[in-house]
Amino acid sequence: MHVFTNRPEISNAVAAHKENGLKIGFVPTMGALHRGHASLFNFALKSCDIVVVSIFVNPTQFNNIQDLKTYPRDLQADLELLENINPNLLVFAPSTQTIYGSKVESIDYNFDGLDKVMEGAFRPGHFEGVATVLKYLFEIVQPDFAFFGEKDYQQLQIVNKLVSIENLPVKVVGCPISRHDDGLAESSRNMRLTQKHRQVAPFIYNTLLKAKELFNDKPIADVHQFVIDAFKDNELLKLEYFEIANASTLEHTTIKDTDETHRAFIAVFADDVRLIDNIALN
Ligand code: AMP
Repeated sequence: MHVFTNRPEISNAVAAHKENGLKIGFVPTMGALHRGHASLFNFALKSCDIVVVSIFVNPTQFNNIQDLKTYPRDLQADLELLENINPNLLVFAPSTQTIYGSKVESIDYNFDGLDKVMEGAFRPGHFEGVATVLKYLFEIVQPDFAFFGEKDYQQLQIVNKLVSIENLPVKVVGCPISRHDDGLAESSRNMRLTQKHRQVAPFIYNTLLKAKELFNDKPIADVHQFVIDAFKDNELLKLEYFEIANASTLEHTTIKDTDETHRAFIAVFADDVRLIDNIALN
């Protein structure tokens, strides 16, 4: 499997396919690939002629240096997984220097508050880092379609905003969350869980399912209280936040509005491993 590492090579390869009228799909990742990523590759392969997968652990989106250091990296295993899915995938695995040159910095963006809540509030600068690397990657790859998981729902909304701010000629496609059989959302971080934390981790999704049920007939405050109490009783999982928000604006929901779509979002620490998940409520 050919791995592109520099800009002109991948840009030229994609441009040649576009000249032949082929549709280009793009799936940006940070590697440590799993079935969640694979579901995105399969979505992309269904609707595009050529699919580019990038593997790049983006330093500017980590607000915690320890998190960046311990982020799992295994390019060889990633390439094997990609080869098994489809050997025609184009892989772009650049160095930090190739993406950022000597200035490893984020661009300042105004995302109208989308980046100030939930993940943005707990990880300052995270979304500007995400948006910066995506702007650079979109400029290099020039895809027609880009695929993102609803696992990172807030990120998906930020990407939509970035595309509109920068007026980028790419269509953003959101893909459903892929889960283990016990309900835990697939994540590169799951491999860092101890056995006992892995065993209790499905509690996160189960609590979201119960919150969704309660949302139908209880006031929002009761749903919040239920989740807070549920985690108080759990010795292994520490709740960082639980939020019910408008699915488009991500503004905190205080009153249920049947004309609006609401979603619940959660972040939990299992020891030092931070896990996030979310669910559509209506
Ligand atoms: P990451 O490598 O964590 O940056 O993720 C790359 C892409 O894969 C992002 O669009 C994620 O939202 C998506 N992704 C990660 N885990 C899952 C999952 N369990 N289900 C669906 N998409 C996922």
